[in-house]
Amino acid sequence: MKDCVFCKIAQGKLPATKLLEDKNAISFLDINPVNHGHVLVMPREHYETIMDVPGKEFGKVMEMVPSLAKAVAEVTKADGLNIFQTNKPCAGQTVPHVHFHIIPRHKDDGFHFGWRQGRYNEGEIDRMQWGILKALG
Ligand code: 5GP
Ligand code: ZN
Repeated sequence: MKDCVFCKIAQGKLPATKLLEDKNAISFLDINPVNHGHVLVMPREHYETIMDVPGKEFGKVMEMVPSLAKAVAEVTKADGLNIFQTNKPCAGQTVPHVHFHIIPRHKDDGFHFGWRQGRYNEGEIDRMQWGILKALG
């Protein structure tokens, strides 16, 4: 897609510190890492969000993730690791080409998600299940 930074990286028109790549997917180091060794993995083809990627194609991108995660954890001597993904600006997406973050984590590294967790009122969880299953078809 024209003007997409990550399409340009995928097409070799912009430089990136690349790691694994194949015809479906490409991975490279995030230029502004949460921690050193922060990697991005994405499909070569342009899709804005995960809701736009066909399941099969998404699977081919995900195939790369475990080996990358293992290598990143080993090299950075990580105590843990997050796989993180954003869709649309309200969820923190700044580059509208779907991608996964692989973030090596260290004890007391100061990075917090700060999740706010709620609860369901009586019956709401069942209605939610019904609605999602219906949408799945
Ligand atoms: P998002 O906020 O969309 O989930 O993540 C986008 C990520 O891409 C950010 O962590 C940002 O640092 C990274 N990023 C943005 N532009 C570039 C770039 O040109 N090269 C690389 N390597 N990373 C980028
Ligand atoms: Zn793109």
